[in-house]
Amino acid sequence: MRQGDLEEIAKAELAVLASEDRLWKRHVVEGPATSWAVVDGRRELVLCSNDYLGLANNAEIKRESAQALEAYGVGTGAVRVIAGTMRLHVQLEEELARFKNAEAAITFQSGFATNFGVIPTIAGEGDLLVSDELNHGSIIDGMRMSRAERKVYSHNDVDSLERVLKDSAAYRRVLVVTDAVFSMDGDLAPLPEIVKLARKHGAMTYVDDAHGEGVLGDLGRGAVNHFGLEGQVDVEMGTFSKAFGSVGGYVVGGGGFCEMLRNRVRPFLLSGSHPPAVAAASLAAVRYVQKHPELFERLWENTRYFKRRLRESGFDTGRSETPITPVMVGESAKAQAMADELFRQGVFVIPIVFPMVPRGAARLRTIVGASHTTEDLDFAVEKLTAAARVAGLKGVGGGGR
Ligand SMILES: *Cc1c(COP(=O)(O)O)cnc(C)c1O
Repeated sequence: MRQGDLEEIAKAELAVLASEDRLWKRHVVEGPATSWAVVDGRRELVLCSNDYLGLANNAEIKRESAQALEAYGVGTGAVRVIAGTMRLHVQLEEELARFKNAEAAITFQSGFATNFGVIPTIAGEGDLLVSDELNHGSIIDGMRMSRAERKVYSHNDVDSLERVLKDSAAYRRVLVVTDAVFSMDGDLAPLPEIVKLARKHGAMTYVDDAHGEGVLGDLGRGAVNHFGLEGQVDVEMGTFSKAFGSVGGYVVGGGGFCEMLRNRVRPFLLSGSHPPAVAAASLAAVRYVQKHPELFERLWENTRYFKRRLRESGFDTGRSETPITPVMVGESAKAQAMADELFRQGVFVIPIVFPMVPRGAARLRTIVGASHTTEDLDFAVEKLTAAARVAGLKGVGGGGR
């Protein structure tokens, strides 16, 4: 390649993305992004953070994290299998296994690295991976890393799943992979039916609970606990980057399985381990949620209140059953215009447009958290209604009903 070509290639690629409205605008946040934050120099109500419980800026957790930083330094200097496993990493895995009522746990650098590294470790040549069509991109990429065959079933459609499973007898292993909470719509996978079908057809199950952890189940133990399925899902995967407020991915499961992952998963073997301050923050978060049930009560009160207010104002909130609440708009350009207007009015939401969702299904994705006050949510509904009027969104603006 000649010098300079890459800049030409990038320019052409960026032009394509721009023409499809697919360029991400950079937003810069000053200070913590919990409920209100200064974004691009403006004070904004943040409705697009995954920090469901406000733990990213929790005083007790920050203290634990700062102490770890002082005691262990800023980095580990190695991967987990060399000198990069500190006492804190071990404590975190033990605490997590206890919290999840599982035999063992293993942590990774991120949820993305977890799916990317673990899925191809479980399934290879001669195996079949069965995936919901709306699964997260890290699952899709993890499946691509595997030599297993891949089949996709229609979203949350157990009949479609069964058609695939009926046809799977020739494979060595079959693994059904699904998000527990789908991140664009906030709907739940029918896990009891999926687990039952998988068992009937001799398949294993892998549940990505990134948006269920810390949100669903007893004290935030997640979707598997919520559905009463503990011990019945083969692999439970989650992340610390959402409700737990820090960063990192994990898997809980059998002791032998986690030990095998310790020896096989490539990001675990080949990429540096979490800084002590990160491991300590995750550990403190897992401990914190178990002592603070009021956080979940607040999160769910806010979720119910916000959804009700939106519906009363005439908004279509899709099929959400969780704090992720889409405000359906339709055309991409309209969703973009509404998000821009809302930002000017002090509400930070992200438009979700094609190709992240089908054409004509553009939306604003809102996420409420335990840190929002009722006044915050009222403010958001008021501004959303005003922006919808400006954009000419059908059915909105009539007030209470
Ligand atoms: C956010 C998310 C991930 C990635 O987790 P990170 O820890 O942020 O890398 C994986 N799966 C799902 C469903 C997610 O929503």
